Amino acid sequence: MNISKSKELFAKAQNFIPGGVNSPVRAFRAVGGEPLFIKKADGAYLYDEDGNQFIELINSWGPMLLGHNHPKVKDAVVKAMEDGTSFGAPTAREVEIAELIVSMVPSIEKVRMVNSGTEATMSAIRVARGFTGRDKFIKMEGHYHGHGDSFLIAAGSGAMTMGDPDSPGVTKGTAKDTLIAPYNNLEAIEELVAANSGEIAALILEPVPGNMGLCLPKEGYLQGLRDICTREGILLIFDEVMTGFRLAKGGAQEVFGVTPDMTTLGKIIGGGMPVGAYGGKREIMEFVSPAGPVYQAGTLSGNPIAMAAGLTMLNHLNTDPNVYAELSHIGTKLTEGIKSINQELGLNYTVNRIGSMYSLFFTDKPVFDFETAKNSDTALFGKYFQAMLKRGVYLAPSQFESMFLSTALKDDVIDQVLVAHKEAMVEILG
Ligand code: PLP
Repeated sequence: MNISKSKELFAKAQNFIPGGVNSPVRAFRAVGGEPLFIKKADGAYLYDEDGNQFIELINSWGPMLLGHNHPKVKDAVVKAMEDGTSFGAPTAREVEIAELIVSMVPSIEKVRMVNSGTEATMSAIRVARGFTGRDKFIKMEGHYHGHGDSFLIAAGSGAMTMGDPDSPGVTKGTAKDTLIAPYNNLEAIEELVAANSGEIAALILEPVPGNMGLCLPKEGYLQGLRDICTREGILLIFDEVMTGFRLAKGGAQEVFGVTPDMTTLGKIIGGGMPVGAYGGKREIMEFVSPAGPVYQAGTLSGNPIAMAAGLTMLNHLNTDPNVYAELSHIGTKLTEGIKSINQELGLNYTVNRIGSMYSLFFTDKPVFDFETAKNSDTALFGKYFQAMLKRGVYLAPSQFESMFLSTALKDDVIDQVLVAHKEAMVEILG
């Protein structure tokens, strides 16, 4: 594969951008080789600067649920541009998207738009602290909530991939208010709660974590968290930046029937534009400025172009009766295919999937938390990644990420991925 233009760009980028990239995992450090510079994308495909075509299994880390360049979203963005790109004043579209989100997400009675998932989680924790008058919060090992200081402790995603789950630059003063618990373990939460009685404002988690690779909640786990939080006056926050609008219209909370007090959103909600949101019960959200005393603002929040993209995306998801069944079919076809090829080759690697998210872990032990995710052979994953890339399939460049499938992946494209998977496995295992 000729990647000379990407190589040239990467060499130049490293002179001007830290590590040559604007977000760490993009640098391919965990899988070896050099990152591809992407020129354009359409439907199920990405195209790099050298003209190579790849089947897309990341979809911009989640937002492109309908594939790239979806005609409805594209038209909405182009039309919105004609009226100007930013006003810094309220617009009708913001009211429309807020009403739609409230109707789709069970826990949300009021919602505030921001510009990223990071902003959403940082703001939600501030509001939870303001509302409860408490300082501490619980976070799960290996979960990622963006790069706000208080979340960069035992963090997943790029922080885990780069070997820096506890980032330098986060002060001890900040870190002491972040209490860390293992995922899928209710006793650990009971112990933390007992040891910090009356001091915990919130418990935040990815209900279905994708940032240590995809893990699933054990039966009764999310309801158990709900019960503890209700009993202790702790606000339960579901970070649904990945799972929101992906697993169902109402996200993981709809799928598992557990309603948190607050929810954070991002990715799909912006239809590929930079957007995040946080929302929750009316009385909690009434604490947000200017309705209440907790300050949170944004020059570009509710940006008209981003709202046009997000609104079109959410309207589509809200009205297409087949979209989630289709996504589930795509996820099932791909992961069942992977499992049966693995079996044929005498391999018993763990595959976790829900709907259109999955991870193939290079371990035959079950993966359900940070520690079990670390059983994976990351060097072998790196080889697999390269072998797939060579065959035209673009995966997340780290073992500790989920894949994000789109409706653009039709059956014949999945069949091509499966052919590549078999060849890649044979190649890397000799
Ligand atoms: N929360 C979760 C669960 C995420 O997966 C991410 C990003 O991947 C974030 C928060 C941060 O979102 P952003 O990258 O838009 O700041």
